[in-house]
Amino acid sequence: MIILEENYWKEIDAFKNVDKENWENWKWQIANRLTALEEISKIFPVSDKLKEAFLKTTEIFHFGTTPYYLSLIKEFSYDNPIFRQIFPSLDEIDEEKQKHSYEDPFLEDTLSPVSGLTHRYPDRVLMRATNFCSVYCRHCMRKRMFLEEERARTKEEYEKMFQYIRENKQIKEVLISGGDPLTLPNKKIEYILKNLYEIEHLDIIRIGSRELVVNPYRFFDEGLLEIFYKYDKVWLVTHFNHPDEITNITKKAVKNILSTGTPVLNQTVLMKGINDSKETIETLMRSLLKVKIKPYYLFYCDPVKGTLHFRTDIKKGVEILEHLRGRVSGLATPIYAVDLENGLGKVPVFPNYIVEEAEDYIIFRNYEGRTVKQRR
Ligand SMILES: *Cc1c(COP(=O)(O)O)cnc(C)c1O
Repeated sequence: MIILEENYWKEIDAFKNVDKENWENWKWQIANRLTALEEISKIFPVSDKLKEAFLKTTEIFHFGTTPYYLSLIKEFSYDNPIFRQIFPSLDEIDEEKQKHSYEDPFLEDTLSPVSGLTHRYPDRVLMRATNFCSVYCRHCMRKRMFLEEERARTKEEYEKMFQYIRENKQIKEVLISGGDPLTLPNKKIEYILKNLYEIEHLDIIRIGSRELVVNPYRFFDEGLLEIFYKYDKVWLVTHFNHPDEITNITKKAVKNILSTGTPVLNQTVLMKGINDSKETIETLMRSLLKVKIKPYYLFYCDPVKGTLHFRTDIKKGVEILEHLRGRVSGLATPIYAVDLENGLGKVPVFPNYIVEEAEDYIIFRNYEGRTVKQRR
């Protein structure tokens, strides 16, 4: 866990005059997002190479970060796992590197009964509440949404989504994603949650958000915490990819969320040059548990246009799981999953612990490679 000292942002010249009240206010963090090259140039000297990458790439894929997330970068180069997640790279628009990728590989827009809603599994639906995010991740699986103008959905669009969920009683869970739903004002969040909460056949409302990573001050907002407490079907799924993203502020924020009775889980994407090693993932998973976040999924990088350069070999994730098993708490072990193209859903991929199967016995191996024959 990274310990950020009192007034840590004042170490950065561009932020040295920002007072505590502003810096620790989530709205200030969003209002003061950095989106332009001139703003970045005030933070660190941007080389000509980086300038070129920024300008060419952002013609297609925008740049944006909160001051908080930027302040976690220790070194302004692609070698840094946070820099690499937010700073545009020419690889994103390199035809060769992006060969065999798609804007919407999982047909989320095609499998939409009403605009903004994807119904892939019988008992749960995915709702895209907004197309705004406070940070634009270079590896975003919905990069296509950010090619459009930023906007929140209209009331009519929301009403149509609620209507569909009301009419389809087999739906037990709504996954609110985006964009980032927690960048919406509390009033809008309450409007969505109230409507969903009143649908009796819903058991859970899952919010997918990266605010805990990029703007943890969101969870110091009493209003939001009250909403979580009141609409007590909410689960929060967040998106940490590297141990450098977990700070003492994350820990306090998680404590606030847990105090409302809301469980916190995490999804990580396995990415080349960011976290594709056993050691990094092990540290990440251990660090998540330390701040009481349960690792849920480790995803194989999706074939999304503009992100394919982050993809590892598919076996890399299996090797990592193999490493974790037995060495790290079972609680720290996520499910490694591949999202199948054409909207066929996510499938888990496990190391194989069965060495041989016969009619009356099975030979297993354990994490150390020792084998045992057991009667069936
Ligand atoms: C990932 C996803 C879900 C949720 O899947 P879980 O395995 O329950 O986490 C639901 N709907 C869609 C469209 C998804 O992509």
